[in-house]
Amino acid sequence: MRVYLDHAATTPLDPRVRKAMEPYLRDEYGNPSSLHRWGRRARTAIDAARETLAAALNADPAEICFVSSGTESCNLAVIGCALKAPPNRRHILVSAVEHHCVLNAAEWLVPLGFEVEHIPVDRYGQVDPDAVRARIRDDTWLVSVMHANNEIGTLQPVEAIAQICKERGVWFHVDAVQTFGVLPVDVQAIGCDLLSVSAHKIYGPKGVGALYIRAMTPLQPLMVGGGQERGRRAGTENVAGIVGFAEAVRLAESLREAEAERQAALRDQFIRAVLEAIPDTILTGHPTERLPGNAHFRFIGVPSDSLLIALDRAGIAASSGAACSAGSLEPSHVLLALGWDEVAAQEGVRFTLGRGTTWEELAYTVEVLRTEVARIRARRAVTSI
Ligand code: PLP
Repeated sequence: MRVYLDHAATTPLDPRVRKAMEPYLRDEYGNPSSLHRWGRRARTAIDAARETLAAALNADPAEICFVSSGTESCNLAVIGCALKAPPNRRHILVSAVEHHCVLNAAEWLVPLGFEVEHIPVDRYGQVDPDAVRARIRDDTWLVSVMHANNEIGTLQPVEAIAQICKERGVWFHVDAVQTFGVLPVDVQAIGCDLLSVSAHKIYGPKGVGALYIRAMTPLQPLMVGGGQERGRRAGTENVAGIVGFAEAVRLAESLREAEAERQAALRDQFIRAVLEAIPDTILTGHPTERLPGNAHFRFIGVPSDSLLIALDRAGIAASSGAACSAGSLEPSHVLLALGWDEVAAQEGVRFTLGRGTTWEELAYTVEVLRTEVARIRARRAVTSI
């Protein structure tokens, strides 16, 4: 049996998305900046995609900037906004559990004279809006807090944080890569100035993302050249990717409510079964305020790399954290931020459900976990005698 439970890392390309992209990989090869009919057709396709994204986010099409990934979107938001800060506003607040594309973008600014402060989280991984309020200073320029964490699935109170930022005149960025197409993401309801999304998490192509930029938000382009994307991101657009992103958004929006409900029910059943079947197991993250498809556990005394290899042998794909840092031996910064020690932080395993996930697959996973966790624990007990 093959069971893919790593949908937070990436999702397969939906065949309907591939079909929508195909003309732009074949005959419709025009450069959208060209004035002739080839170019105009590509431009029309991008304009339509921009409208689709804007409608899904409740934004104006002019506020959508297409980029190459969620990573670029977060880099452009954090670095681009910071580079417009006056010299007396160089304090930046980011939550301690942000994706590395936000954390490292903020760190990148330090040699330029910026001060970066991490907002702590509680044991469920949640930011307390009052902790943000308490840290905003007269020189704070930007706050960045993600909508949902990619490792442990915890949702953040971004609306309350946005309100505080607005009151204090501070720009607010939200990394919504894990929630867009999964839960409602309405930039007006949230009240943020910048918001990042990515196509490959919602059955779209890899290498396409977008940044929502509220009108009047200061932003220094990071890519310079031609005047594409209203001068905010130079480079000939990834037309097929952008068309695929829009199709993925359309599909995700039509399935969103039913799928969130279905996955949340399966997730809860899976969590109950795992906790029942395997002793000394802890559910990570918030019990209710979490992504519908995320289940994350600590199997005490079981290093996650050993367990992931055993799961892979049994045909099951899971993860120990963000895909890009899962290969590293560093313990997860997210688990450390929950207050876990280094040993505990090496024992976290993430299962993320998708549209194709069935109970049969999850029941098989529980059985494999029961066997493999016991086997690894027994082996470790013997070697430590
Ligand atoms: N932010 C979050 C929360 C993510 O989960 C990811 C994906 O790994 C990213 C940003 C980066 O997105 P991308 O893979 O499109 O660069």
